[in-house]
Amino acid sequence: MVSSSSHLNWPPIAGVISDLDGVLYRGDAAIVDAIEAFERWQAAGLPFCFVTNNSTHTPEDVACKLATFGLAIGPNQVVTSAIAAAEIARANYPDAKRVYVIGAASLSNAVAAVGLDISDQEPEIVVMGLDRHITHEKTRIAVEAILNGAAFIGTNPDLLLPTANGFEPGAGAMITAVAAATQAKPLIVGKPEPHMIETALSRLGTVRSATLMIGDQIATDIQAGKRAGLPTVLVTTGVPPRGDPALARPDFIVSSLAEIEVPPTLVGTPRQRRA
Ligand SMILES: [Mg+2]
Repeated sequence: MVSSSSHLNWPPIAGVISDLDGVLYRGDAAIVDAIEAFERWQAAGLPFCFVTNNSTHTPEDVACKLATFGLAIGPNQVVTSAIAAAEIARANYPDAKRVYVIGAASLSNAVAAVGLDISDQEPEIVVMGLDRHITHEKTRIAVEAILNGAAFIGTNPDLLLPTANGFEPGAGAMITAVAAATQAKPLIVGKPEPHMIETALSRLGTVRSATLMIGDQIATDIQAGKRAGLPTVLVTTGVPPRGDPALARPDFIVSSLAEIEVPPTLVGTPRQRRA
């Protein structure tokens, strides 16, 4: 592990994949250094894509939020766990038609957008994300469907989410409850699983070894980046790190994205693309 320094030995950087919450903003407050870094990288032609475990916002929501901070991006530069869960449901179960969704409207919309019907009648797949209006009846329908053989997909494993006043249970807490009731193991989509990193990488088209994964959490962002084989950067602007010696360590640690050195040769030159 490399300690925090502004003179790190950076690899060639052809693209960036980054977490959002705790990296670009905290709640509704921008992290100015990070916004400015992405603005510089954008001006330099460095391609980037954001990956978020949050299934309650659409890529358009994220683009709007970043626009208010002065960073203009397109929705195709955001991969959410809702979009990834829908794509995985479609890809892994090509014959399935009906999906029962516990989650926000953004998750239902993502599932419908890949051509699956949202239904509580004999669903072949249950997709679960964060649902702030979850009820016993919703979990009963999910449990019954899974016991009857439905596949079980969870958007993300986060157990606890920070809020303005404290914490709230994350999607992972509710997914765990259904998993416990059914004794079924869900397919988890979000970080630390590498699915979203792979989706982002294919959108960027950049070389794996030259694409940085930036995040504020070792347990999710850094593990996902490592599993996908990317150089990883922990930025210490978000959730305070909890020491877990079993987890892979980040390749770089910075206190600000301003410390990441993008080679000046990138400016004004064609982007390095995978052949
Ligand atoms: Mg984060």
